[in-house]
Amino acid sequence: MTEHLNAALKYSQDHSQENLGKMKEIIAIPSVSTDPERKEDIQNAAKWLEKELYDLGMTRVEIFPTPRHPIVYGENLKAGEDKPTALIYGHYDVQPEDPIGEWNTDPFTPTEAGENLFARGSSDMKGQVVACFSAVEAIMQTGDLPINIKFLIEGEEEIGGSYLEGFIKENKDLLACDFFLNPDTGMLGPDLPTITYALRGIAYFELRVQGPKQDLHSGTYGGVIHNPAQVMTDLLSGLHDDQGRVTLKGFYDKVIPLEAEERDELSRLPMVDKFYSDQAGVPKLWGEEGYTAVERAGARPTLEINGLYSGFIGEGQKTVLPAYAMAKVSTRLVADQDPAEVYEQFKSYLVENAPDTVTWQLDKLAGDFPSQSDRKSKWIEAYVNAAEAAWGVRPMFKRTGGSVPVVVHIQQALGVDSINIGFGLPSDNIHGPNEKIHLPTFYKGIEALIHFFFNL
Ligand SMILES: [Zn+2]
Repeated sequence: MTEHLNAALKYSQDHSQENLGKMKEIIAIPSVSTDPERKEDIQNAAKWLEKELYDLGMTRVEIFPTPRHPIVYGENLKAGEDKPTALIYGHYDVQPEDPIGEWNTDPFTPTEAGENLFARGSSDMKGQVVACFSAVEAIMQTGDLPINIKFLIEGEEEIGGSYLEGFIKENKDLLACDFFLNPDTGMLGPDLPTITYALRGIAYFELRVQGPKQDLHSGTYGGVIHNPAQVMTDLLSGLHDDQGRVTLKGFYDKVIPLEAEERDELSRLPMVDKFYSDQAGVPKLWGEEGYTAVERAGARPTLEINGLYSGFIGEGQKTVLPAYAMAKVSTRLVADQDPAEVYEQFKSYLVENAPDTVTWQLDKLAGDFPSQSDRKSKWIEAYVNAAEAAWGVRPMFKRTGGSVPVVVHIQQALGVDSINIGFGLPSDNIHGPNEKIHLPTFYKGIEALIHFFFNL
């Protein structure tokens, strides 16, 4: 086994130029999923993957059409039933290249400069897909696969409302696995391999407070009619207490508390308070008492007012008593909170606190569950050792404040944990102009994956 591992590592080092060439090939296909004029490019990217998966040695490869962009699937289960099965995720679509004028090179002509390769999709995430292919190739060209492998690569990650969720639910047997490998997250720095083990969920609302049937003269009606903008701000200001906690009844009931050991782990992250205040350009941070900024931004649930509208907001003055006020409010949730329950809690808050001088309506706009993986699972353990072998340091454990729906959908449908890793860096400009991938990190990522597959 060590012999095979060493042979695979050597193979990947000897073939670094071929691996880079493959990445350049897929990057050159402008598979922008939101652009209807790029439909053919999307198809071509899917076909490129199909061929690659065959060449790699997958024994079954299939393109599954969806009402929009196809899902590409490939598997090799020759290792046998007594060996673990990894489901490896990827997406072959990319964000639009706008604003095109701000690119220093053509976004779909991969261009090397120093240690970086510049192109749309290099870091998010064609580079990561090719890294997985390259690791599997190195292993298969030097011996047998030590585990079973399934690839699930979609073309709709960068558009809202992907058809992948339905596909996962309908194909539970096809996708059955022991764990989900999601390389669509990144590292904190070039020498800081990172495992993201928890993602927050979201519950998003629109609240409308209705007063008079139309805007009124504030001189005639002020003091007589309850101003809906005033009601709205009263209601919103009651959503946090003076310790920065959310006041919705039951909001924290299902929150898994942070243990001392996890807090120690999180305190290794290089994001101190000053990092956040410098990034945001604020004089001082704010938030729930008793928790560090890193903990508040990932391990604790939060509530934000995302937008607020009422009355006259044009230039100059208009003495109006507005007919209504509207607010967009969202909560970020952590395990084991439930977005539907948070909706009920918000509704109860309004029933209890809204005055009878107005009417109100609360609409649910979105809801996604949080997800959390066991940091001590054998799968994560295998990656910790793999990352240590490749980079020489123990990886960081990180929670992320945002949501990654596919991880939640997999957890719910297949009941397996995710290993969220990846080799993108914070400086990669993903979604922006001059996206790039750091090539030494890409090559080390391939080595880490090779170690990982053997560690399993
Ligand atoms: Zn991505």
